[in-house]
Amino acid sequence: MQNSDSAFFDVVVMGGGVMGSSVAYHLLRQSPGLSVAVIEPDPAYEFASTPRASGGCRVQFTCPENIADRVETAEEGIL
Ligand SMILES: Cc1cc2nc3c(=O)[nH]c(=O)nc-3n(C[C@H](O)[C@H](O)[C@H](O)COP(=O)(O)OP(=O)(O)OC[C@H]3O[C@@H](n4cnc5c(N)ncnc54)[C@H](O)[C@@H]3O)c2cc1C
Repeated sequence: MQNSDSAFFDVVVMGGGVMGSSVAYHLLRQSPGLSVAVIEPDPAYEFASTPRASGGCRVQFTCPENIADRVETAEEGIL
């Protein structure tokens, strides 16, 4: 994080679960010059969903085109 002694950031992400952390990571990866703060009130992640996820990934669509699209996306490492 840049400007950690400043109260001003280009982007402030509320919540440091997998979604907030991913947003911050990808923002900084794309634009390293940005100052990004992640505000997480629960450093133990006691009440977050992220540490409870079992890591499962399943096909949830019945339409063949949608299934093929999801599989291709997963194989490309986008998910
Ligand atoms: C038991 C269980 C099993 C699961 N299994 C799977 C699975 O197998 N596969 C799958 O894909 N998904 C699974 N999930 C779903 C997955 O875990 C969630 O969709 C995902 O973790 C959500 O991430 P998130 O970052 O949006 O939310 P969270 O991980 O909940 O993070 C949100 C964060 O925001 C913080 N916050 C809350 N309010 C504020 C505020 N006002 N200001 C700042 N911060 C705040 C919280 O402290 C928390 O850390 C599972 C969920 C559960 C509960």
